[in-house]
Amino acid sequence: MTFRAVLIEKTASGQTASLKDMTDAELMDGDVTVAVTHSSLNYKDGLAITGKGPVVRHFPMVPGIDFAGVVEASAHPGIAVGDAVLLTGWGVGETHLGGFAERARVKGEWLVPLPTGLSPVEAMAIGTAGLTAMLCLQALEHHGVSPAGGPAVVSGAAGGVGSVAVMLLAKAGWHVIAATRRAEETGYLQMLGASEIYNSAELAGAARPLGRERWQAGIDTVGGNVLANLLSMTKYGGAVAACGLAESMNLPTSVAPFILRNVALLGVDSVQVSPAKRIAAWTRLAQDIDRDKLAALTTVVSLDDVMTKAAEILEGKVRGRTVVAVR
Ligand code: NDP
Repeated sequence: MTFRAVLIEKTASGQTASLKDMTDAELMDGDVTVAVTHSSLNYKDGLAITGKGPVVRHFPMVPGIDFAGVVEASAHPGIAVGDAVLLTGWGVGETHLGGFAERARVKGEWLVPLPTGLSPVEAMAIGTAGLTAMLCLQALEHHGVSPAGGPAVVSGAAGGVGSVAVMLLAKAGWHVIAATRRAEETGYLQMLGASEIYNSAELAGAARPLGRERWQAGIDTVGGNVLANLLSMTKYGGAVAACGLAESMNLPTSVAPFILRNVALLGVDSVQVSPAKRIAAWTRLAQDIDRDKLAALTTVVSLDDVMTKAAEILEGKVRGRTVVAVR
């Protein structure tokens, strides 16, 4: 039986990505086969499909770093045919065939049961980006910062991780400063719960060792000078959770915020995070996410649209989250 998939193939001049028919025999090893209903478009998928970042480690590759669906076959203890599941990370869409396909075969231990109360569309509207936003919030809370200490800033606020981070911080009681390059998204960010909008252009230049103390906490999706400025403007004893590199992989900072203001830089990875932390994050997401706001920050596209959207996300043109309706 054939199924539709986005396939990235190596060519003499680089790589191409196109919609193809695949067969079960082309799927990789795994003890669970899933009928994928939804996936989502993340920044990393943009890098993979356009070839602008070294994301794909194995060709041909089906991109799509997350998916939700229904189990079609399982040899994995505790996972049965008909179970509703989701997957994020673990190298899927990078080293293992991913979610932009009607069928996926993966290791059972990579799967998470679809959280109670979330539909597959909602789960992928959250997706890797939303899970990462929650992991950032939990890292800040674990560090000990709280809304009583002052505001929280989110960089790349109109993007996928940023939009969910604004929503989650506001829900947790924070005064949220949304840093964005897109002034036209002011109303959107306020709808998600932002109390202030900060022009990201002011964070684009080289950071001073210590800037004016503006926030107690931060979630950074951008890296580079933006993260360096976030750190230099963090209040004494505050913390910034860093998860992204939409501007740059570099971090041109000094030790000043760390040794003079006791600021902490908390690294957040969603790909290899433990199953226990995933379940805890998804359980809280299912409880805390406002369904109406989630719907408002989500655009649904089809598999046919993925290549166009992949280019747009790298250009910073995609607002919020993009769900891919696979079937
Ligand atoms: P999006 O493209 O949806 O969001 C990124 C946002 O960053 C853009 O919308 C834009 O926000 C801002 N931005 C983009 N380029 C620049 C720039 N040059 N300078 C300043 N701001 C910029 O991507 P995602 O939300 O899906 O991912 C965000 C980042 O997080 C990516 O780097 C991604 O790889 C990373 N990530 C990491 C994970 C992890 O496990 N650590 C998991 C998921 C994502 P605005 O228009 O508001 O300024």
